[in-house]
Amino acid sequence: MIFIKRKKAPQKFRYNSKKYKMEVKKYKGNDIKTDVYDNGHYAYFDKSVKDVFIKMTNYRCPICCRKMYDSCIKDNENGFLIITAEHIKPEKYYPELIMSWKNLLPCCNECNNKRDSKIINNYLNPTLIRNINEYSYCNYKGEIVPSVGKELLIKNMIDSYLLNDRKLIINRMCFKNEVMNDYFNLLVALEDGDESIVFLDIYRDELKKKRLKEKLKWKVDLLE
Ligand SMILES: [Zn+2]
Repeated sequence: MIFIKRKKAPQKFRYNSKKYKMEVKKYKGNDIKTDVYDNGHYAYFDKSVKDVFIKMTNYRCPICCRKMYDSCIKDNENGFLIITAEHIKPEKYYPELIMSWKNLLPCCNECNNKRDSKIINNYLNPTLIRNINEYSYCNYKGEIVPSVGKELLIKNMIDSYLLNDRKLIINRMCFKNEVMNDYFNLLVALEDGDESIVFLDIYRDELKKKRLKEKLKWKVDLLE
């Protein structure tokens, strides 16, 4: 999970929020989604909201950390993740918060669907917890594991957003390999950099041994 800085609410939330809240309260218990449907879009997720969400996240889902896209139809066909608005307190149980800016969180459609309308106790809000990335880490298998002392705090989030489902683990492993390859290339390019020295020395030793073996083999071949 990653911390994201909440930006100012779009105009609509600042000037019409009371109106929307009243609307939503009126329909409590009815089909909430159709009541907040506005010109073909959800009133809480129009272009103005999406634009702010993009600035807040730079297209990275704060829950699963994967890259998101803003186009719906074309990208969705390709299986890409789209930016959606997650209600921290689900609209099903808290219709009065459906248009509350602080209750909205940008996240990818998959995280949003996985969680569905489940109420999460002790929700770890990525817009409020600055060191949220320290609550867990990715182990060598690609699984998200709670950091020591944070087990109870992050468990609900891992379980509710299914952060250790097979697909996500595979995504993370691919990402990790990409990073390792990048890192290796970077070290080779910056051979004299401080942190690369130890790594490259080991690597160079290995190379020397290999070359020596080849040389010896060549000499032995000559003698024979
Ligand atoms: Zn996500």
